[in-house]
Amino acid sequence: MNLNLQPALGIALALLLISTSGITFAQQANSEHAKKSLEIYTRLISIPTVKGRGKVPEMAAYLASEFEKAGFAKSDIHILPIDKTASLVVRYQGDGSSGKAPILLLGHMDVVEALPKDWERPPFTLTQDEDYFYGRGTIDNKFGITMLTTTFIRLKKQGFVPNRDLIIAFSGDEETDMFTTRMLAYERQDLTSAEYALNSDSGGGDLNKEGKAISYLVQAAEKTYVSFELTVYNPGGHSSRPRPDNAIYELMDGLKHIQQYQFPVMSSMMTRNFFRVSGKQLAGELGEAMVRFADNPKDKAAAERLSIESSYVGSIRTTCITTMLRAGHAANALPQSATATVNCRIFPGVGVESVKSTLIKLVDNKDIEFVVLGDPTESPISELRDDVMTAVEKAVKIRYPKVDIIGYMASGGTDGMHFRAAGIPTWAISSNFMNPDEKFSHGLNERLPIKAFYDGLDHWTIILKELAGK
Ligand SMILES: [Zn+2]
Repeated sequence: MNLNLQPALGIALALLLISTSGITFAQQANSEHAKKSLEIYTRLISIPTVKGRGKVPEMAAYLASEFEKAGFAKSDIHILPIDKTASLVVRYQGDGSSGKAPILLLGHMDVVEALPKDWERPPFTLTQDEDYFYGRGTIDNKFGITMLTTTFIRLKKQGFVPNRDLIIAFSGDEETDMFTTRMLAYERQDLTSAEYALNSDSGGGDLNKEGKAISYLVQAAEKTYVSFELTVYNPGGHSSRPRPDNAIYELMDGLKHIQQYQFPVMSSMMTRNFFRVSGKQLAGELGEAMVRFADNPKDKAAAERLSIESSYVGSIRTTCITTMLRAGHAANALPQSATATVNCRIFPGVGVESVKSTLIKLVDNKDIEFVVLGDPTESPISELRDDVMTAVEKAVKIRYPKVDIIGYMASGGTDGMHFRAAGIPTWAISSNFMNPDEKFSHGLNERLPIKAFYDGLDHWTIILKELAGK
């Protein structure tokens, strides 16, 4: 345990806060499972697994040693290096009695950069006050990595034999290149082939300011993220001698057409259910529009109402928006080129090519060149299924009996999209419960409520026993 931690932990224990299950933090923190979880969490936060520092293999080796100590065979533990990073795969052998394919469990070992001079606390040391654990990765995603790891260790020690294999697949560059993710999803199916995947890196419960649970979100889809560059070239010339064609004006005319266009309204079983449950909670005129949309996605007025809400428009259609401009080279010269970046969030099933051809039709000018930036990943919606939702409900409702559990579509960016693209339905179901306004993933002073850490210690155990127990 870290020295910084002990005095603060003392305070937390002295407060004897009552958790929802009626068990105090002190009791929770004293179990062997809790102590092991805090030990591993503390160690993981101390390893700065930022891109370029080459520390992910060290973290993978540390985790591998913990799995080995707990009784996992060396032959079931695989560290797969790529460049300066690595992924880790650990197979929990089942007895095969269910006849079902394995369940994959996802997380990522890397973290976003954190500069000590910008932080109030040291980013790569786990510290705490009465309410929070602080440090880079306390949420994203060393919390998930810790919980999955200690769940495997605990189940192994209990002598639990699943009725199908359980496979941990931790990636090593989720925040940047996703090379390890691609390798796990598309190239190492010998290790990762599964019926479905459960991701620790997203989803989870939302609390309001008073700590009341609002909803528990299951991330079941991600929109495709893609940016296009639109460029107009022109011979240019002296600005005192204007010519009828002009790169900037031509580009603007094209962009105006994109601005005025709305992509068709879309929905799936999952998004309609999201609006039904959220609408009932929210009530009022917006809540009613959500419920009307859920009942009938062809309800134009309801769709129009949702379209003016930046929080919801992305859940009913593909969106494209101009985000950057670059044009001209001197105040007294006609522009020789003008370039705009148009960023799109594409509804699953629509496809990058179809959006591109829509945009080309809209700008209606063959002098505007289109370039797709990067290598966008298209992934389908993983429609919610009963057995998984029942297991999640069991784990969540022990803590928050009345909370609504809702599937949702994220704007894109987790390992899940590659596994979905590889044909493995994926749901992200973090054990975290917190006020979304207090989340600082990727930002300064990233933190996790201590209550969420201890209250969630049984989350994955309950779910895995439900889905793979006898
Ligand atoms: Zn993450």
